[in-house]
Amino acid sequence: MTGDMTVSVHSGNDTSGPAIRTPITMANSYRLPDDPASLDWSGTDQLFYTRNTGANQIALQTKLATMEHAEDAVTLASGVAALHAVFFTFLRTGDHVVVSDTTYEATWKLWSHLLPQKHGIEATFVDIADADAVAAAFTPRTRMLVAETIANPTTKVADIAALAALAHDADALLLIDSTFTPPPMYRPLDAGADLVVHSLTKYINGHGDAMGGAVLGRSDLIDRIRAEAMVDVGGVISPFNAWLIARGAITLPLRLQQHQRTAAHLAQVLHDDPRVAFVAYPGLPSHPQHALAAKQFDGRGFGAMMAFAVRGDAATQNRFVSSLKIITSAVSLGHDESLIVHVGPDGPRVAAYPEDFRRWGHLRFSVGLEDADDLATDLTSALDATFG
Ligand code: PLP
Repeated sequence: MTGDMTVSVHSGNDTSGPAIRTPITMANSYRLPDDPASLDWSGTDQLFYTRNTGANQIALQTKLATMEHAEDAVTLASGVAALHAVFFTFLRTGDHVVVSDTTYEATWKLWSHLLPQKHGIEATFVDIADADAVAAAFTPRTRMLVAETIANPTTKVADIAALAALAHDADALLLIDSTFTPPPMYRPLDAGADLVVHSLTKYINGHGDAMGGAVLGRSDLIDRIRAEAMVDVGGVISPFNAWLIARGAITLPLRLQQHQRTAAHLAQVLHDDPRVAFVAYPGLPSHPQHALAAKQFDGRGFGAMMAFAVRGDAATQNRFVSSLKIITSAVSLGHDESLIVHVGPDGPRVAAYPEDFRRWGHLRFSVGLEDADDLATDLTSALDATFG
């Protein structure tokens, strides 16, 4: 099994019973062996309790690991649970981490407030596009470098091979949140990352109906996360969500092609419209890291997430969003339907955002699977309605 679609169809599909598809095993407990005293109650190798492992969890983990070229995967209840599981497992009081200054809100909050205040783990935020700044941020206590392949929401692109070299020089782990760049579009482990996190809630499930998270990497690292952060902290994925996500993941390579093709078209449509103030999309030559993105993603696309703003104040942005008929105003991303969310220019995080984001606020746009022409018409009709 080497082709992307063959892997996503077949990998992890459990055909040990009569059915040709993995059944949903909605059980929190499994029959014990004749001599239960032989069991490791904290173990994750045998089926006896769903917080330790479960049939649908195993099926999903196998599929994800094969798709991401990882030795192993652990699945958890959400993307944030997966991020927290990594931090909880590998860091202790007195440690230091280097974190990209542009990340998903919860990652920022964990590192700006919660982990330093509650656990005494210090974080330095850096512009990961500036290699000198990253190198200068390491201290003898640095254990981890944390970044997103394409950052939420600014679409800043991380140079994974360069960050891996910097982290490894300092004996630190490189953790990459690859939620915006799922396989087969990109695989950070192949470029030297130690651990990859996905919010499975997004592209990998793809249908907006289940939450989950995964961490992928070397078996010794994933085993530690299972033992320390899954069994004894308990943020496990439900069997039904694991089954839904495994089913959604089957079509991921196909869906990504359509998501990305349409996103490239819409980014250009918005970029060419004078009523649009700016468009941040790594596939546009105007993106500051377009060349890096083209080299790193090597013809496999530029993702399907973008940020833009129309020329006007917050009320104008809201009027534009309210005028959309197909694109839905809602959080989350990577769903079959296109989603847009208006985020204003204020807030504690925006100091690190590019000038355009600070001036106009931004609309985070997740391009769905609807027909490109329908989406382009939806955007231009909403611009007409907004600007008269
Ligand atoms: N990482 C990124 C880049 C995200 O965009 C999100 C959610 O939007 C998460 C992690 C968190 O995922 P979840 O909502 O599944 O916890």
